[in-house]
Amino acid sequence: MGKQQNRGSNRNPHPPSNQTVTKHWYSWYFDCNLLYRILIGLVLGVILGLVFKDKILWIAPLGDLFVRLLKMIMMPIILSTLIVGASSVSPANLGKVSVRVIIFYLLTSAVAVSIGLLMGVFFRPMAELSEVAEAVGREVDAPSITQILLNIVPTSVAQVVVNESILAVIFFALLFGIGISYLRVSPNERIKKGGELLYTFFDGIAEVMMLVIKGIMQYAPIGVLALVSVVFASNGPKVIGSLGVVTAACFIGYALHIILVYGGLVKFYAGLSLKRYFKDAKHPFITAFVTRSSNGTLPVSMEAAHNLGIPKDIYSFSLPLGATLNMDGTAIYQGVCAVFIALSVWGRSFTFSEMGIIVVTATLASIGTAGVPGAGAIMLLLVLDAVGLPVISGSPVAGAYAMILGIDALLDMGRTALNVTGDLSCTTVVAKKMGKIDLTKWKS
Ligand code: ASP
Repeated sequence: MGKQQNRGSNRNPHPPSNQTVTKHWYSWYFDCNLLYRILIGLVLGVILGLVFKDKILWIAPLGDLFVRLLKMIMMPIILSTLIVGASSVSPANLGKVSVRVIIFYLLTSAVAVSIGLLMGVFFRPMAELSEVAEAVGREVDAPSITQILLNIVPTSVAQVVVNESILAVIFFALLFGIGISYLRVSPNERIKKGGELLYTFFDGIAEVMMLVIKGIMQYAPIGVLALVSVVFASNGPKVIGSLGVVTAACFIGYALHIILVYGGLVKFYAGLSLKRYFKDAKHPFITAFVTRSSNGTLPVSMEAAHNLGIPKDIYSFSLPLGATLNMDGTAIYQGVCAVFIALSVWGRSFTFSEMGIIVVTATLASIGTAGVPGAGAIMLLLVLDAVGLPVISGSPVAGAYAMILGIDALLDMGRTALNVTGDLSCTTVVAKKMGKIDLTKWKS
């Protein structure tokens, strides 16, 4: 993240003079590399959570503050960057970028669910039925696929912005941005001027938001410490219990997907250096791991894409879209958890046709999953419903589902990290394949 300072620095009309920098008692904090500070926060958080358990829960507001800061800038970032993204692609190129990006997103999500199912079948995570029966049942309504798709089109723009209905906001921002891109190439001077004005306005907002996120990231180490200690204070002992197998299956699935799918795509399909790729990709990975929000991580992903030499007209379109549409980690998690619930309740795994239903539903469900903490657990209901395991209050399915919810925070950390890595990998590969990547940035 130290590299983020590069962005926009060429525009600074007031470069700092050669004054001596005064050291303060807190200077060590800002002098230390941000990534190291975040990692130290993470390790300290685990230790504090496991050692002090409930006694450390007072720290939760410090973590909430970090999440609130990220959420605060989420909507302005999505709106401004998607509008700028769609409007900076020329109408002739728009189709090429969007079709490629969306195909990549859907294909990798389908592979991810399959890896999740394989992990489930291989590890056979399963809870004793007595344990399941004792678990607290919980009933939540799963939205239907038709409803998810219809909800993409907002009936009121103001309402979807206020309600943070990300998918609908994305839909509107894309249409608006595409509209501007047409105005910008209009032969009519008046219309063209209007298009340029709108473009400059939203571009300005996007730049301001990037500056704001840099400031917020200085607080990240403290926020991370608080968030992680609360997760371990409340879930620590359970994680080592019977749900440890679910956790292991998910995390091994996440690792396999990174190595086989993203590693394969970046190294073999796009012919790029993996070492160089992860040098920048690790920043959004870690931020997503601790914040559990793809949307909140968006600014950090954009910074990484910029440092990887990907042009703004591609990443400012594909990353916000991916933060909502592309959820490979969530898809793996859904595969593993569906097998866990089937084994615990039915005592058997899925047939091939049931697995087919899961692949299709989980891929579609990942489109409707908002990039916020815990959203994947709600979409899991949709997948369970589709395969004949509806979560009805007091039923064994509800019990098994409640057990998963108990460790959801931990599973969410891994799946969110994978979700954002997937967005960045697809973006990198599409940019390289379109011959648009700045390869001078890959020399270091
Ligand atoms: N937390 C995930 C994300 O932001 C979504 C999920 O819960 O699966 O990408």
